[in-house]
Amino acid sequence: MASRSAAQSKLNQVVQIIGEALHTEVCSIYLLRDGVLELFATRGLKQDAVHVTKMALGEGLVGTIAENVETLNLDEATSHPDFAYKPETGEELFHSFAGVPIVRRERAVGVLAVQHSDQRRYDDVEIEALQTVAMVLAELIAGAGLIDEGGPGSGSQRDTGPVRLEGLKLVEGMARGRAVYHQPRIEIEHTVAEDTDVERHRLISAFAKMRDQIERMTKETDFGVAGEHQDVLAMYKMFAYDEGWIRRINEAIDSGLTAEAAIERVQQRTRMRMREIADPLLADRMHDLEDLSNRLLRIVSGQLGTAAQLGLRQDSILIARNLGPAELLEYDRRRLKGVVLEEGSLTAHVTIVARAMGIAVLGRVKDVRRTIGEGDWLLLDGTQGSLIVRPTTTMDEAFDARMIVGQKRRAEFAAMRDLPAVTKDGQRIELMINAGLRDDMAALDVTGADGIGLFRTEFQFLVSATFPQRERQQRLYREVLEAAGDRPVIFRTVDIGGDKALPYMNQADGATEENPALGWRAIRLALERAALMKVQARALIEAASGRTLNVMFPMVSEPWEFDEAHALFEEQRKWVHGRNRVPPAAVRYGTMLEVPALAESLDMILPKLDFLSIGTNDLTQFLFAADRANPKLAERYDWLSPAILRFIARVTRESHAASVPVGVCGEMGGRTLEAMALIGLGIGRLSITPAAVGPVKAMIRSLDAGVLRAQIGALLARPVRSLRSDLAAWATENEVVIA
Ligand code: PEP
Ligand code: MG
Repeated sequence: MASRSAAQSKLNQVVQIIGEALHTEVCSIYLLRDGVLELFATRGLKQDAVHVTKMALGEGLVGTIAENVETLNLDEATSHPDFAYKPETGEELFHSFAGVPIVRRERAVGVLAVQHSDQRRYDDVEIEALQTVAMVLAELIAGAGLIDEGGPGSGSQRDTGPVRLEGLKLVEGMARGRAVYHQPRIEIEHTVAEDTDVERHRLISAFAKMRDQIERMTKETDFGVAGEHQDVLAMYKMFAYDEGWIRRINEAIDSGLTAEAAIERVQQRTRMRMREIADPLLADRMHDLEDLSNRLLRIVSGQLGTAAQLGLRQDSILIARNLGPAELLEYDRRRLKGVVLEEGSLTAHVTIVARAMGIAVLGRVKDVRRTIGEGDWLLLDGTQGSLIVRPTTTMDEAFDARMIVGQKRRAEFAAMRDLPAVTKDGQRIELMINAGLRDDMAALDVTGADGIGLFRTEFQFLVSATFPQRERQQRLYREVLEAAGDRPVIFRTVDIGGDKALPYMNQADGATEENPALGWRAIRLALERAALMKVQARALIEAASGRTLNVMFPMVSEPWEFDEAHALFEEQRKWVHGRNRVPPAAVRYGTMLEVPALAESLDMILPKLDFLSIGTNDLTQFLFAADRANPKLAERYDWLSPAILRFIARVTRESHAASVPVGVCGEMGGRTLEAMALIGLGIGRLSITPAAVGPVKAMIRSLDAGVLRAQIGALLARPVRSLRSDLAAWATENEVVIA
């Protein structure tokens, strides 16, 4: 295959050999060149058609195979809805048809097809033989430069053209970069084995390693509790010990493939079979087997680790099924421009972390794996909720233009930086930002915010490999306070658990929870692990030496939890005092209101509080009993539903009556229409994501809060699913700037 002409003659030989071996009249090879599938070699079709017959992706059976990257096996080709007749080939003589994609980097770069005048379906063994040949062909034709491929590292596959995907806007913003899979796909470099015995041994030891991993996962999970994880692991185990699976891979190795190629070949065949069975339960199982197959591939090829561990080499857009916040934080913030998730929801912590990092996120994007190749150039528009894969130059330029408009808008907001957040009728709203990492502090100056209304201290725990020691915690808190200057910072004690699980801690406790969001998390965990909380209390108290320390407790459900946490902090304060160290000038205590039960005890807790902060992310999930990380529920309930607004109105009223300042620190406050509603309900402090400060301030400065307050009660009395449209209409009528 050294030269192109040699390659052509090899392909001519291949079609002859396959035709003879399968006793089939026609065998053809189509290759993708300049974006179309070109007949490159054939036995049985007219030779004049070679390099003449061309089909677009999706056109005819060959185009369909390439587009869907799937095998077809038909006893009567003409009865298939996608059949397209090509007269120059003389194919009218043939009835049966089977074709397999020639796959390179998960994308079809050609099709190997056989046809016969009898109406017969090819048997499994024949199809498998075709798939094996297709695999080997992929390597050979790529080596001979017969197909258009991006150079190494570019991964660009212009031949498949641009595609636009839609998704759920999770974090607004625009980003461009190369597609990087969080779990990188395995590049199968060599398909043809040099020594079959060696390949067999590689497979045996990979299976042993994989079984080990699964056994370990099983041990770490509490099998006493029934649940989905148990089913999944049981299924993994079943597959891992499935003799049939191992035998098929071994057979593929015997046919001359490397272990990697054999695993992939068997997987291709399973994929094809599963497609034929339209059973959603089986589709789920398919996902498991796919997962396991990838795991096996990673082990056998030694290509371990996530993209974060391998390191980003250029501006990148990360693609994953889902991510945990800690996994996201592992990425290099300078190169990570955007994230595309197949799942994801608005208030999942990974979304919040991405928002804090200023990284655009698009969620619930379908068909990701099939459409996006590693290294493809992507334009992510988190503002419109779209993703363009392999854009044309025109699309790229249009995106640029919109990005510039976005920058201009941001510049306009930036110009408002030093203007106060005052409503038209003179009410000063405290506009603060949420933060969690040292780097977030820069946003204070950039936005001109009044302070940090929520500092999520658990982020430091999430980015660490082990529990951060007191000195490290103290150093961070001190740096944060220094960066804030005379602006207040509200430190929230660790909210670990839920979707912010620490791998190093769960292991120590051996606990895997059925409902982590309702589980042993935040203040519940902190009070029981008193040493953890004491360390944090001391770190905060020492860091705030001589200044005011604002502390807030997460997930308080009953007043006694606040009392205990408060007592623990006071004890530490006394301890510091007793050591002749300078204690904070004052310690102000507050709590989050995110568990609805606390609203029933407000009269008992309010007298003890210096401030209250409503966490609408958790509050919404608990009020509606709707998991905040469940993508299926992401759009079901609206923040502007009467239930939430009435709830917040009640809490606000009672807090005001007790003279306790009340604010909102959930994501809800960062949306202009929602923020307007909150101010209408009497909320005077918003702590929001930095990017929202400009738009929310513009809204505040155009709002007559008194008028809204007078009218919102009437709106809340109306039996509607959401007040969104009413409030939007009100805003338009009253010329409130809603971004
Ligand atoms: C909330 O629940 O609204 C909140 C602000 O806290 P977190 O998102 O960190 O749970
Ligand atoms: Mg919360």
